[in-house]
Amino acid sequence: MLYLSTRGHPDRKRFCDILLEGLAPDGGLYLPEHYPQISSERLGELRAVYQSQGYAELAFQILSLYIDDIPAADLRALCAKTYTAEVFGTAAIVPLRPLEDGLWLEALSNGPTLAFKDMAMQLLGNLFEYELQRRGAQLNILGATSGDTGSAAEYAMRGKQGVRVFMTSPHGRMSPFQQAQMFSLQDENIHNIAIEGVFDDCQDIVKAVSNDLEFKRKYKIGTVNSINWARLLAQVVYYFAGYFQASSSNAQQVSFTVPSGNFGNICAGHVARMMGLPIAKLVVATNENDVLDEFFRTGVYRVRGSADTHETSSPSMDISKASNFERFVFDLLGRDAAATRALFGDALGRDGRFDLGANPLFAQAAARYGFESGKSTHADRLATIRDTWQRFGQMIDTHTADGVKVAREHRGAEPMVVLETALPIKFAATIEEALGRAPERPARFEGIEALPKRVQVMPADAQQVKAYIAAHCGE
Ligand SMILES: *Cc1c(COP(=O)(O)O)cnc(C)c1O
Repeated sequence: MLYLSTRGHPDRKRFCDILLEGLAPDGGLYLPEHYPQISSERLGELRAVYQSQGYAELAFQILSLYIDDIPAADLRALCAKTYTAEVFGTAAIVPLRPLEDGLWLEALSNGPTLAFKDMAMQLLGNLFEYELQRRGAQLNILGATSGDTGSAAEYAMRGKQGVRVFMTSPHGRMSPFQQAQMFSLQDENIHNIAIEGVFDDCQDIVKAVSNDLEFKRKYKIGTVNSINWARLLAQVVYYFAGYFQASSSNAQQVSFTVPSGNFGNICAGHVARMMGLPIAKLVVATNENDVLDEFFRTGVYRVRGSADTHETSSPSMDISKASNFERFVFDLLGRDAAATRALFGDALGRDGRFDLGANPLFAQAAARYGFESGKSTHADRLATIRDTWQRFGQMIDTHTADGVKVAREHRGAEPMVVLETALPIKFAATIEEALGRAPERPARFEGIEALPKRVQVMPADAQQVKAYIAAHCGE
């Protein structure tokens, strides 16, 4: 399997080359040259694999369709090491539980940091370690986080050979639980840098450091952001696992609703559907930052400025642009790289928006690709959290609540699966606002706020961050 850029760069690459890269050289995103097709017979076999051999083997069988430059035995071992009941809490790894009739929650947030990003990041940690060892290379991951991504990356990379993490976060702005999760890590290869500023300052620093090509090369700087194809690919697996649990036979269709920000999670659903998984609808749920809902309603994709980006109670969906969206638009435009480049390379840079409303292909987003969308606000979130608690005794997090609210508006005859993207304990303040009581806390997180913290506070100054990296990367 070879990978191409959505903007038409002539190079074709193999999986392990793009694993350690971010964007393609022309600024595009990597996608496979084609989506492997799963026949209904093969789907039956995969159902049996999940039921009798478990999630790790299912992951191996799906990943191996896209990865041919890691020997099968090694890839199988990497999957087996990643997806264990010990790390993810249950043998099913992503168990489904019913809410109201025909509506299910798929638990993706029982990994080490209690958010769905663990599903992909844990695999990425093992893939990075494997590939770096094979090349005798090292990597220093530099990132910016407002919470979930940074902690998932740190828990995936802690103690790994050849990898260091330098994670910037806005000083004092993450929830106390999120701070405790990250800063209590004592692993030598994990470095927390709290920046005196906001999340945008952290992102600007990462950009400034990455734009210094000399520094970047000398100190082997890399990233783990959500545009990484390996992350997206790992997420494809739980659409299959969710489908098998929600359906009784492969004749049945299932829909998914996905709390969305950067379009990474739901883009994996798109890939699964393109492979032939019988998905009826893919419903995009946004919060007040409704870039994606606006697109699917109108065809207008309009990037927000920072003044226009709201701080909400589902903060992991507070985005101004959806960094994975270009992948879907590339497919929607019939894989026309020149057209994709004109939109994402030219129009967005020039006007901050583009409009596909008048393009006949736009109608196919729903008709051919199954996409629908909806939006949820703070008031909706509170009402949904209250409702699921009072009627079903189920406590759900703020992001998942956005999903449930929108899912209910898009129900058809087929089962609807809402992806649970985090546990309520991560966003305790809003749960208390909704329910007047503190969220449930998994036993292993008792008292983490009191643990010793390992964090370096720094002004919003790229030079100081560079100096810190240079002093701590063992060169
Ligand atoms: C990251 C995140 C999302 C958004 O996922 P995307 O892949 O960016 O669309 C939703 N909910 C939670 C809890 C997250 O951490």
